[in-house]
Amino acid sequence: MASEDRNVNERVERVIVLGGGSAGWLVAGLLAAEHPALRITLIESSDVPVIGVGEGTWPSMRDTLRRIGLAETEFIRRCQVSFKQGSRFDGWRQGAPGEQGDRYYHPFMLPVGHGDVDLVSAWLSTQADRPFADLVSPSVQVCEAGRAPKQAQTPAFGAVANYAYHFDAGLFGQLLREHATAVLGVEHLVDHVDAVRSHENGDIAALQTREHGERTADLFIDCSGLAARLIGEHFGVPLKSEREVLFNDAALPVQVPYASPDAPIATCTVATAWAKGWIWDIGLPTRRGVGCVFSRAHASQDEAQAALQAYLDATGAPAERPAPRLIRYEPGYREQFWVRNCVAIGLASGFIEPLEASALALVELSAQRLCDELPMSRASMDAVARRFNDDFGYRWSRVIDFLKLHYLLSQRDDSEYWRAHRDPASWPASLRELLPMWRLRPPARHDFGRIDEVFPAASYQYVLYGMGFRPVPQPLSAAKLQSAQACFDEAARQARRFIPALPGHRSLLDHLHKTAT
Ligand SMILES: Cc1cc2nc3c(=O)[nH]c(=O)nc-3n(C[C@H](O)[C@H](O)[C@H](O)COP(=O)(O)OP(=O)(O)OC[C@H]3O[C@@H](n4cnc5c(N)ncnc54)[C@H](O)[C@@H]3O)c2cc1C
Repeated sequence: MASEDRNVNERVERVIVLGGGSAGWLVAGLLAAEHPALRITLIESSDVPVIGVGEGTWPSMRDTLRRIGLAETEFIRRCQVSFKQGSRFDGWRQGAPGEQGDRYYHPFMLPVGHGDVDLVSAWLSTQADRPFADLVSPSVQVCEAGRAPKQAQTPAFGAVANYAYHFDAGLFGQLLREHATAVLGVEHLVDHVDAVRSHENGDIAALQTREHGERTADLFIDCSGLAARLIGEHFGVPLKSEREVLFNDAALPVQVPYASPDAPIATCTVATAWAKGWIWDIGLPTRRGVGCVFSRAHASQDEAQAALQAYLDATGAPAERPAPRLIRYEPGYREQFWVRNCVAIGLASGFIEPLEASALALVELSAQRLCDELPMSRASMDAVARRFNDDFGYRWSRVIDFLKLHYLLSQRDDSEYWRAHRDPASWPASLRELLPMWRLRPPARHDFGRIDEVFPAASYQYVLYGMGFRPVPQPLSAAKLQSAQACFDEAARQARRFIPALPGHRSLLDHLHKTAT
C-alpha cells in the first residue's frame, strides 16, 4: 500500500510490539490495559533470547503493575519477588566495604519535612557526625533490622515504608505474557523478523516474519533489545555514546543459592564498589542475583571475574557456582527514540548501566507516555514524536547526571578507573554547573526542569551526602532549627514504631506465598 492511500487522520488502531523481553511485555500490557480497543500483536524471536537480567526496580513499578491489572500477591508468588526499600552503597567513598567500612543508603522514602524545612543546614550544624539518610528517614533502620516495608494486612501495593521490587526477570516476563495474552487480548507471535517493508514516505508498513508472512500495523514499538532492529538497524538512528562519562560497558551476572534456605533476604540492593567497577547483589527468596559491572578499558574479564569470585567468597556463597556469562554493551542512548511511526523502548532505546535500576523505570515512563498520547492519528504523530524525543532526551541526560554523581565524589585511589571518574573533564556540563550551587544549598526541585523526574531532588541529596559531600551550612534561626529537629525526631519516632510492628522480610514473603497457595 502506498503512503498516499492511507488516511492520515484515522486513529492508530493496530500496534506491533517487536520483542518479548520485560520492555515488550510491559509496553504491550500497559497499552492493552489502558486502550482495550487497540489491536496489539507482540512478535518475539525464538532465536534471539531475552537479556534475562534486570531484577531491581523503582517504586513506580507498583503503579505500573496495578495499571496492567496484575494482582500483587500473584506477582509475588510467581516471580520470586522480594521487597526493595532502596540501595546500599558499600566501599564507594574510600574503598572500604564491610560492616565497619564506608557505606551509605539511598532509601526510597523522602526525608521527613523534605522541601519544607532546611534539613541539611540543621543536620550539618547540629549532628554532622550522623549519616544524613539515617537522621531524616526511618528507612535505613528498617533495612538494617531486616524488616519488610509492609505488614501482611497492608493492602496490595500499599506501603508502610516506600518500596519497589526485586524479581526474577525470566519469571516476570512469563507472568506478563500470560496476563497480556489471556486477560488483555494481546496477540503473541513467536517468529523472527527478517525484513521491514516501508511506505513511500518512509513509515514502516509491515514487518516480514519467517513463518507468518508480513504483519502490518499503524504504529511499531521497537523493544528488540540491544539489536535495536527497527530504530537502529532499519532507521539507522545512531547511539549517542556516553562512555566518556560513564565507563562501564560489560557485566558478569551469576545466580547463586543462599548458604542456608532460611538465610535473611536483604531488603535493598547492595552495590559494592571494587577497584574497577562495582558488584550488585539482589536477594530473592530462593537465590541471589549477583553481577560484576566493569569497564573493559580499565579491567580485563579475568580481573572482573576474580573480583566477583572474591565477593561471592566473602558473602558466603557456596563454593560450587555456575560460570557467569559475559554481557557487553555500548553505554549510551539513541539520538532519537521516535522516528516516523516507530518508537523504541527498553534496551533498543539505550542502556547506561544497572546502577539505580533506571532502565525499567524509563521503560515504564515511556510506556505510560505512549498510553497518554493515545488516541493518536498519523497526522498528529510527528508532533507527538518531537515532544517525546525532547522529553526523553532530557530524561536520559538526567539519569546520566545522577549516575555520575555516584562516582565523581569518590576518594578511591586504587585505580585509574576512579581517578578518571573524578576528573572534571569526564563530568557532564550540567553537573559542573550544579555542583558549585550544591556547595551552598541542597539540590532542590527547581534544579530539575520537569514534574515527573526519574530521580527526585531527595535522591540527589541522599547520594551527595552519602558520598561525603558537605555543603556550607546556612545560619538558621532558632525557629528553623526547631522545625528541623522536629523532623529528625519524627523520623526517629517512625523507626521506633515501624521496626517492632513490621514483620521480618523473609517471614512476610513466606506468609504471602502460603496465603496465595
Ligand atoms: C547487566 C545488566 C543488568 C541490568 N540490571 C537492571 C536492573 O537491575 N534494573 C533495571 O531496571 N534494568 C536493568 N537492566 C536493563 C534491563 O535488563 C532491561 O531494560 C530490560 O530487561 C528490558 O530489556 P528489553 O526487553 O529491552 O530487551 P531483551 O530482554 O533483550 O528483549 C529483546 C526481545 O527482542 C526480540 N527480538 C530481537 N530481534 C528480533 C527479531 N529480529 N525478530 C523478532 N524478535 C526479535 C528477542 O527475541 C527478545 O524477545 C540491566 C541490563 C543489563 C545488561
